Amino acid sequence: MTVEKFIEVCPVCGSSDWYYEAGGYTGKLYHCKHCGYIGSFIVEGNQEMIDAIKEDYKHKKESEKSSE
Ligand SMILES: [Zn+2]
Repeated sequence: MTVEKFIEVCPVCGSSDWYYEAGGYTGKLYHCKHCGYIGSFIVEGNQEMIDAIKEDYKHKKESEKSSE
């Protein structure tokens, strides 16, 4: 039996290093310390999913750099 561990991470960079931003009328906001993402959406995923997001983010950053 495998118990999957779900972690809440930033949907942009996959970092779990985020905190709650004091939200106004929208309620709860997440603020990612790693990439600066601010939004009401957070991803809850297992390690596999998180690795995929991180990998995706890395590629995006690399393609941004090379397009300069
Ligand atoms: Zn982030």
